[in-house]
Amino acid sequence: MAEVHERRDRDTGNAEYDLSLVPTWSILLAAIFFVGLQYLFHFKMPHRHGELLAMRIAMGFFWGSALASYALLAGYVSRDVKRRNMSAPLWVLMVILMPAGIGAIVYFLVRQPVVSRCPHCSTELQAGFNFCPQCRFQTAPVCGQCYRSVQITDIYCSNCGHDLATDGSPRRLRAYHDE
Ligand SMILES: [Zn+2]
Ligand SMILES: [Zn+2]
Repeated sequence: MAEVHERRDRDTGNAEYDLSLVPTWSILLAAIFFVGLQYLFHFKMPHRHGELLAMRIAMGFFWGSALASYALLAGYVSRDVKRRNMSAPLWVLMVILMPAGIGAIVYFLVRQPVVSRCPHCSTELQAGFNFCPQCRFQTAPVCGQCYRSVQITDIYCSNCGHDLATDGSPRRLRAYHDE
């Protein structure tokens, strides 16, 4: 039981594919790329005699989507990289410059775990930490007896049966989980 709870805590603790990580500028850029490519393919590219219209539409759609996904990926990486203490300019450049999305693939393979900062002393906290290792600031609900992760809604510890109401968990934890 305790294992299950611990894992659930960890999963909710790091939203790997949070869409709010895609900044507005990259969504705008993606839209501009897509529309721009349609314009290029339909109005700017010289029309050859006897060519297929369907082919032209397909090519415009293909290149438009390809460029748009690049913009979205670069946007995602530019934000995701900051949560992981990695160099933002380096990785955004990698994603943009490496052909065929290889930069993005490399990024997803080597990226570091999400780090957040302790609100009290700014020490780096990795996903799954219940306490700050430097100042003991509590960041997740734990049992006051065995210190395993518990759910904020639990009344008794699922690991040792301890009565959690007697712990007096920090008020900020209660406020955070009641949202
Ligand atoms: Zn701390
Ligand atoms: Zn316990």
